[in-house]
Amino acid sequence: QVSKAQKSGPVVFQPSFDVGSNVNLTLVSELKKSIHNNELSIFVQPKVDLKSRVVTSVEALIRWRHPTRGMIFPDQFIPFAEQTGLIRDITLWMIAEASKLSASWLEKGMSIPIAVNISARDLIDSDFPNKVAEILKSTGSNTSLISLEVTESSIMDDPHRAKQTLLQLSQMGIKLAIDDFGTGYSSLSYLKELPVSELKIDKSFVMHVEQNQNDRIIVNSTIELAHNMGLHVVAEGVENIEVWKSLQEMGCDYGQGYYMTKPIPACDFEAWYQQWTQVPLIYSTLSPNSI
Ligand code: C2E
Ligand code: MG
Ligand code: MG
Ligand code: MG
Repeated sequence: QVSKAQKSGPVVFQPSFDVGSNVNLTLVSELKKSIHNNELSIFVQPKVDLKSRVVTSVEALIRWRHPTRGMIFPDQFIPFAEQTGLIRDITLWMIAEASKLSASWLEKGMSIPIAVNISARDLIDSDFPNKVAEILKSTGSNTSLISLEVTESSIMDDPHRAKQTLLQLSQMGIKLAIDDFGTGYSSLSYLKELPVSELKIDKSFVMHVEQNQNDRIIVNSTIELAHNMGLHVVAEGVENIEVWKSLQEMGCDYGQGYYMTKPIPACDFEAWYQQWTQVPLIYSTLSPNSI
């Protein structure tokens, strides 16, 4: 089938990168240069203890500040990075940036670990754990300040190799989380053998948990399952106080979501954190976000 771009001759820029069109080639070549051109940046979003309101860590989320298209979200370029293998450099860049960031926070008295998302491609790279170790060494950071998030589906791409890599990372002292839990087709018997310490419930089950009975059942049983397996549970997609309260009642450990804050540029985190910690803990159960 002839695409629109082929018919009309030159490839025309579109507002977003269209999967399966010629624009991909442009995207890929631009993405290749994005690291050197300083166009990638880290946004962060806190994970908060639902009982105490304490910020226990943050997740690093990549953004691409494109010179002409403006800010591009990961869903629009991470899949291409995965297909082309560019993801490896991107992951290592993220880990390096995150470890510099957490080390700089530590100097200011904020001991907050940062979680970085990794891909299926990273999991099948037998040299990945060594590369991570090198980065941590060269940035003067340490393994307790960086954790990694892996989706169920990227583990199930090649479960055997994924397990090897995860074991190595865990032996280095890096904490691991299973991301987007509930959306993949993973085998629970397999997951239980992995050295993970945290399970993140996908936001699609969390966002309406206070009003949707099915979501409630799913979230509740996932929390129970995770706890029985000795894992901490994080709920993604906490958008309002009602969801926070429901999760708290269900015994969920941590929450992450727009209610606390949308992902913010790394340089803005300190200001958000100062403001967040100014609210006395005594009011936390009443109104976690009242400032
Ligand atoms: P994720 O790891 O599950 O990250 C959570 C996503 O949910 C983020 O989207 C975040 O902005 C969004 N989110 C957080 N709280 C809420 C909420 O309350 N409501 C709603 N509706 N959404 C919320 P984002 O930043 O667009 O990232 C999307 C996905 O892209 C991530 O999902 C992750 O799978 C991937 N990604 C992001 N950064 C990286 C990266 O550096 N490397 C890799 N391999 N993947 C990344
Ligand atoms: Mg994640
Ligand atoms: Mg997720
Ligand atoms: Mg996701």
